[in-house]
Amino acid sequence: MPPAAASHPCLACGACCAHFRVGMHWSETDLATPGGVPVALTEPFGPHAAVMRGTWERAPRCVALNARIGEASRCTIHDRRPPACRAVNASWESGAADAQCDRARVAHGMRALQPGDWPARG
Ligand code: SF4
Ligand code: SF4
Repeated sequence: MPPAAASHPCLACGACCAHFRVGMHWSETDLATPGGVPVALTEPFGPHAAVMRGTWERAPRCVALNARIGEASRCTIHDRRPPACRAVNASWESGAADAQCDRARVAHGMRALQPGDWPARG
């Protein structure tokens, strides 16, 4: 398991990696793109798409996630994660709420992040 986290809220969360189906075009895997998403961690989804294994389940949980949800979390393929993962932002890290972040956290029994969860920048 990952070490207990940490300064960034995502490192003590992981909810979005255990809530959504994570899809991609097959060409974003390392079948077609060197350094792309490891195809071994995906499964086909229709003729042109793939999903991260574990995320197309009744209770989704990405196979690449190493986490105790709400305590400590790490993506084991962080540098090779799909674009859909990169599109989810921790709410208020960049000055705005993120609906997916909020929905995933609430679904896992956590409150949505608030602006005050981030240190003031100045
Ligand atoms: S983006 Fe939001 S839901 Fe996802 S790990 Fe970070 S804080 Fe949790
Ligand atoms: S690839 Fe990484 S960031 Fe994306 S859902 Fe899986 S564990 Fe989360």
